[in-house]
Amino acid sequence: MTRKIVAYKALPSDVEAYLREHAEIVNVDAKDHDAFVAALNDADGAIGASVKITPDMIENATRLKVFSTISVGFDQFDVADLTRRGIVLTHTPDVLTESTADTVFALILASARRVVELAEWVKEGNWKASIGEACFGVDVQGKTLGIVGLGRIGGAVARRAALGFRMNVLYTNRNANEQAERDFGARRVELDELLERSDFVCLQVPLTPETRGMIGANELKKMKRSAILINASRGPTVDEAALIDALQNDTIRAAGLDVFEHEPLAADSPLLKLKNVVALPHIGSATHETRHAMARNAAENLIAALDGTLTNNIVNREVLAR
Ligand code: NAP
Repeated sequence: MTRKIVAYKALPSDVEAYLREHAEIVNVDAKDHDAFVAALNDADGAIGASVKITPDMIENATRLKVFSTISVGFDQFDVADLTRRGIVLTHTPDVLTESTADTVFALILASARRVVELAEWVKEGNWKASIGEACFGVDVQGKTLGIVGLGRIGGAVARRAALGFRMNVLYTNRNANEQAERDFGARRVELDELLERSDFVCLQVPLTPETRGMIGANELKKMKRSAILINASRGPTVDEAALIDALQNDTIRAAGLDVFEHEPLAADSPLLKLKNVVALPHIGSATHETRHAMARNAAENLIAALDGTLTNNIVNREVLAR
């Protein structure tokens, strides 16, 4: 029987051609929920991203063996449920690390030097004399960067910070990251100390029950009034209402955000009215090169998992042990 794969995100043509060498491909628009679920019901594998996959959607997908997400984060899935059903979940770590770290640094620099706000100010025709203090920002070099979740992406941010900008790096993880300590002088501290001492607090944890809402009103109050919060992890790691309050009341200086509690961010969000917010439309890994590499990687993960030869990029390895 020909294997059937459901693609619920548009794929680059060469990646789709690669998949067609190995299986029949059914393209679905995930917004058409019923058609998506119907396609999953007789599929062997599925590839896509940015869509919540709930247990009821795969209740009758008895042939399904592999879900391949074109992302490193897998918070859209109920992993325990997939594991119970014997479905392998694969993801795309590493290929997006550097591009995402670039986005984090773009947010750090843009927030500190008010790049977006001042570029808009120039376009609005306000630049009529040489600028004064009202347009000054704050330095990035030499400051203290606190990374909450120093893993692959956090490590690439720490490298830029320590080697490029001579910053001091603090971090919180459940386990020590000895490589980052050795190579970038990163120091592991408790979250409270990180919040109290950092000039930039940068979130790079996965979204899990433990990290959901981990930065709320209390944590924001512990930050320096001069500090800047950067979030390129997942929106719900931060209590957005508390953040808006902190930004409106100068509890912290500014925020650089690539992710939000609800995406796309509503056009009437109070965040968009604040000059001290840089808001991006979840572009962490969004370069032509990296998005292509992610799609290719996810397609290869999917075929190898169906063939039973995949050894890495597996989220729920315990399925294979059965
Ligand atoms: P990773 O290598 O697994 O790093 C995650 C880090 O978070 C690890 O160092 C982990 O260390 C730490 N961590 C996990 N749970 C924690 C907790 N409860 N408290 C404190 N630290 C915790 O993952 P990555 O490849 O760097 O990706 C990180 C996340 O970035 C992804 O899950 C995704 O949500 C997000 N992301 C966003 C974009 C974007 O477009 N904005 C792009 C790519 C990724 P311990 O296990 O030792 O705690």
